[in-house]
Amino acid sequence: MNVINVTRSSLPDFDEYCREIKKLWESRWLTNMGVEHRAFEAELEKYLGCRNVTLFTNGHLALESVIAAMGFPKGSEVITTPFTFASTTHAITRNGLTPVFCDVNAEDYTIDADKIEELITEKTVAIVPVHVYGNLCDVDRIKAIADRRGLKVIYDAAHAFAVSYKGVSSANFGDTSMFSFHATKVFNTIEGGAVCYNDGALKDKLNCLKNFGITGPESVAAVGGNAKMSEFQAAMGICNLRHLDEEIAKRKKAAKRYRERLEGVKGIKLCSPQKDVTQNYAYFPAVFDGFKASRDEVFAALAAVSVTARKYFYPLTNSFECYKELPTAGAGKTPVAAYYADRVLTLPLYADLSTDDVDRICDTILSIK
Ligand SMILES: *Cc1c(COP(=O)(O)O)cnc(C)c1O
Repeated sequence: MNVINVTRSSLPDFDEYCREIKKLWESRWLTNMGVEHRAFEAELEKYLGCRNVTLFTNGHLALESVIAAMGFPKGSEVITTPFTFASTTHAITRNGLTPVFCDVNAEDYTIDADKIEELITEKTVAIVPVHVYGNLCDVDRIKAIADRRGLKVIYDAAHAFAVSYKGVSSANFGDTSMFSFHATKVFNTIEGGAVCYNDGALKDKLNCLKNFGITGPESVAAVGGNAKMSEFQAAMGICNLRHLDEEIAKRKKAAKRYRERLEGVKGIKLCSPQKDVTQNYAYFPAVFDGFKASRDEVFAALAAVSVTARKYFYPLTNSFECYKELPTAGAGKTPVAAYYADRVLTLPLYADLSTDDVDRICDTILSIK
């Protein structure tokens, strides 16, 4: 029986990648904003219809750096959600800021816009919402709240590459948006990430922070780190971007098959497509509640036939050991997020997942005794 992992990285043709990196053997310029890096940044600005894109070696450091670039006073509060990957909460905390956990809504698992304002204090400086599974947050309401209360909005858009709302790319909401190009994401550069933003004044700050704070041959202006994307990563991005639309179309086909098999089954809830939002089919979440087996039993039944699903996101970040001292820690404070964290499973989804594979996965789930 073939092994089916939860994801499988998209790769360009081997020869196509070799052609792209051949020039690096001539230039011997392997990192530090070389030709591939510059070309890839420009292509992304065009593809995303976004004024500024700054590349990073991964999504986490992109998020951590853009929060640092905002220069918030230490100890300030940032409203975010716990139904996310560890990275979001860590990026806030590693900047000396305090995450304040807001619950998610039951429709698309993004931040519940109704519950943001009650968490705002005089220490609040920003909102870091997450576009979970490629579902977009309520960007209009979040903007209205942020404008009224003078807060920055920094989106964790790691899941939402190539998603748009009313024709506007997800790169263009809030003050900034971070994408992850990790090997497991819809679009990958092996490891990689980017920050997208309108305000051109951020460009020099981000480029400085990702390169040790260096501002000139003999000047270092900030306590930066090393978060530069290499030429090999950028070359992978250039190649993968050429095929992205096809890859998403293949994902769509697999997702459609899942829907045909699982929609309407008692005790299984699927995510409804959002109005005016194009999908990238990044994940296929299924919620098990009142199904003949629990989420953990479904997970185990799949594992028994060499299929790996993922409890994503579980546990919630507000129940991590390292956050237990926080005032808003504890899954009980975000009951909707806690409910989904205990019941959701993301099923395998990638471009090469065949209809037969989807059928095998669904047969396994539906035939659980
Ligand atoms: C993948 C991911 C990140 C981190 O991105 P990396 O590129 O792996 O560093 C951050 N937030 C979310 C929601 C993610 O899924």
